[in-house]
Amino acid sequence: MSNIRNCSRCGKMFNYVVGDVICDNCKKEIEEKFQQVKKYIEENPGSGIKQIAEQCEVSTKQLKKWILEERLVFSEASPIQITCENCGTRIATGRLCAKCKATVTNALNNTVKERQQALAAEIAKKQAAQKPNAGMKFLKT
Ligand SMILES: [Zn+2]
Ligand SMILES: [Zn+2]
Repeated sequence: MSNIRNCSRCGKMFNYVVGDVICDNCKKEIEEKFQQVKKYIEENPGSGIKQIAEQCEVSTKQLKKWILEERLVFSEASPIQITCENCGTRIATGRLCAKCKATVTNALNNTVKERQQALAAEIAKKQAAQKPNAGMKFLKT
């Protein structure tokens, strides 16, 4: 099945498959830009978001997207302060610090576990109700 969409970056029509609505050509250009930005940050660890955006000719929106995707990592020397969305600790990249990430993962796991336990209890109850012996005693009397 073909799914023709307009590229959100250049407007060109292309065969959309999955992920961002961006054509292959733009994807390649963005990837090249990313490598350029990465190199620039390595060489200029003291530069801020605005400076990087200007020097590499990339939007701050794109830079922030790469940070959220954990692709751009900033050292402690960087003026770019990324903080954990949950506890505010300074982090190198992404949205959450390692500690909060672990908590979130645990919470998710617990929810799954609780659901499985609830389901298992439900099934056990049904099986108990269906046991032929359970009702027999009453019938005998
Ligand atoms: Zn495009
Ligand atoms: Zn945190």
